[in-house]
Amino acid sequence: MYVLYWVFALLAQGIGLALLTVAGRDDLRLIGMIAFTGLIGARALSTAGLLSLCGEDRPAAFTSVIVALWFAAVVVSRLAGFDSVANVASFYIAAFTVAIYGFYFMAKNLHALKGPFRQSLMAIFVVEALTCLALLSAYNLQQEPPSLGSATTSVALITGFVLFSLKGFLAVWLTVERLESDLRDLAFSDPLTGVLNRRGVVDEIEKMSQRSAKSDQFAFFSLDLDDFKSINDVHGHNAGDRALVNFTHVVRQCLRERDIFGRTGGEEFAIFTRVTDRNTAGQIAERIRSTLEATTFHEDGHELRMTVSIGVTLMRGRIGNIESMLSEADRALYQAKGDGRNRIVFYDGPTPQPAQSADREVALAV
Ligand code: GH3
Ligand code: MG
Ligand code: MG
Repeated sequence: MYVLYWVFALLAQGIGLALLTVAGRDDLRLIGMIAFTGLIGARALSTAGLLSLCGEDRPAAFTSVIVALWFAAVVVSRLAGFDSVANVASFYIAAFTVAIYGFYFMAKNLHALKGPFRQSLMAIFVVEALTCLALLSAYNLQQEPPSLGSATTSVALITGFVLFSLKGFLAVWLTVERLESDLRDLAFSDPLTGVLNRRGVVDEIEKMSQRSAKSDQFAFFSLDLDDFKSINDVHGHNAGDRALVNFTHVVRQCLRERDIFGRTGGEEFAIFTRVTDRNTAGQIAERIRSTLEATTFHEDGHELRMTVSIGVTLMRGRIGNIESMLSEADRALYQAKGDGRNRIVFYDGPTPQPAQSADREVALAV
């Protein structure tokens, strides 16, 4: 949609500038007025294009209001017999309104944009608003009527063009950033459940690991739904899909916001989380296991229950080899499956052991 705004903004700008030259040196009347309508339209449309990129949902209304205001001001000044100074004044008042609205929108939407974009856009709108005021006073102060050849008009045209180009540049920059982030989301998330996919999990683990200190301890969980094939067989593949989505909701409920959680395969999932010790890791895994066990899902009038087996591996500091961490957790998971499913097993060296030792962990190996 914003691309359309920009196409029309360019058209309006082109037509406006072309008509302004046709209007002749001293004639800023009828053709000049249409030219100004094109130029004010271009300002409103380019701003609307930027705002729609930043989340404004009614840029069309905004554009039409500005152009309508400008038209009304022109008609009133014509009827009142004001000279072309009044038309120029109407133009800059309308342009000033566009800039102020742009600034207000950016200031209000603090979180819609990140990094330098918001500041740059706000700066452009401030400069635009100040330029409008400066030119408005310059035109009002000068003795002779506004003309194309005047120094003020040259300054007006150049600043207008520079601001327009800067907005265009920011729009392209923003669009590229958006596309990159959309592509990133596509590449790193699982389309069915919306959680991270395997690539996303590995990428997030790398990032978290780089930010970590040597003393930080982490737990990696490999989760696999038990007898999931039977859910598909009994309730159908679509019900199986919904069960996978429901499972992700249950797990998310048991995790903290910053924990890394993703789907690494069909009915296989992974969690990477910072823990204080082995006991905390066991508690998180147990919370997931027991919450899932206690949850009843409803599918086509039938009750559906699921259980999950979890393999856990612990590590400290930066994670050197993610793949070996995954395979450690998988070995523990394999053990959990072998021991009867619906249980948690910690990886304790080359031969994984069912979780045991302190009272809590004996309970973990259900
Ligand atoms: P186990 O307890 O040993 O893990 O048994 P299981 O049945 O869960 O494991 P198995 O590997 O035999 O079967 C996995 C099933 O998961 C088979 C496959 O159809 C199903 N599955 C994998 N991906 C999807 C999916 O995206 N949607 C649905 N509905 N089913 C899936
Ligand atoms: Mg599996
Ligand atoms: Mg399974």
